[in-house]
Amino acid sequence: MEVIKQNISKIKSPLGGEKVYKDECAYSFDNPESENGLYICMNTFLGLGKKHVERHYRKTGNQVFLNIKRRRIEVPKDDQPPEKKPTKLAIGVEGGFQVDDKSFRFEEETSIVVLPDWTIIPLTNTDLPDMVQLSAASILTAVDAWKMEEAAAMACTWEGEKLRVSKHADNLLQLDNGKKIPPKGWKCEQCDLTSNLWLNLTDGSILCGRKFFDGSGGNNHAVEAYQQTKYPLAVKLGTITAAGGDVYSYEEDDMVEDPHLAKHLAHFGINISALEKTDKTMVELEIDLNQKIGEWDVIQESGNKLQPVYGAGLTGMRNLGNSCYMNSVMQVVFTIPDFQKRYYDKLEEIFGNAGGHIPDDLNVQM
Ligand SMILES: [Zn+2]
Repeated sequence: MEVIKQNISKIKSPLGGEKVYKDECAYSFDNPESENGLYICMNTFLGLGKKHVERHYRKTGNQVFLNIKRRRIEVPKDDQPPEKKPTKLAIGVEGGFQVDDKSFRFEEETSIVVLPDWTIIPLTNTDLPDMVQLSAASILTAVDAWKMEEAAAMACTWEGEKLRVSKHADNLLQLDNGKKIPPKGWKCEQCDLTSNLWLNLTDGSILCGRKFFDGSGGNNHAVEAYQQTKYPLAVKLGTITAAGGDVYSYEEDDMVEDPHLAKHLAHFGINISALEKTDKTMVELEIDLNQKIGEWDVIQESGNKLQPVYGAGLTGMRNLGNSCYMNSVMQVVFTIPDFQKRYYDKLEEIFGNAGGHIPDDLNVQM
């Protein structure tokens, strides 16, 4: 307590909007869930793993830290809210595939730690000066600085791209061949398939879709016809409603938007507002396929008991849900001897010499 009183002028509260690093160590991957928790300097608001606290103390003379320890406790499956079936091809947003974070709750333990003797003082100790209590409370309620950056970068969500308007939509050639399409009861003109049918918007032909890699799907009749005729746009029958339908552009090799779809269908006698949805859209098929193959579960390795590993050749960056590709680049870079010499062998030197704001120091962060 004496040390705290001597240091009281150095203890601050992040009330002026200072960045608070309370989720990860400025030097390492330690965080409040690490064995000893995270130590937040009550002067600079930098978070530090236990290994890095002494160095910070030697460099800055700051002796008072808020220690946050967090324990992850699994919530039994029965107590979890039911999972919702995804309705769109997106990750981490309403209606998309959900990032698996509902099955844990967290317990937090906080105390004041004073160096050099690592003296622990519980936050409940009534002898703690008001300034220390205020500092601790405002650190605990502050939004973590790394988190703010992540949120700004929208790093945790991903959403399928919006469709482009087809360049063929405005001036699409439509043949006056007298074809009239009934509102239902369709069949491929070259085989017996009655679903997964595509209506070509130029010649009004109804042909089946592509064969999928797993053998399901159609017999490729629509795409084969395109190779002969080069008529670029087709709409999937059964997906058309007054709100639109699935339009594919062979020439642009992508699903597209056709703003004149109602007019293009009327050419073949189809009243768009009279149609009902009877077949799956391409997005629905893709979601089905993702669920069937369980690709999302495979990526997440859900259901597996994973052994956390740490050390040479094993440690990467924390995955934000879509940063695994950065990890693979980092692992390749770290196999280069010059890089190892510069950033790994000289680690202590880099950490020791770093001045200024550690989270912005390229060499330390590298
Ligand atoms: Zn066919």
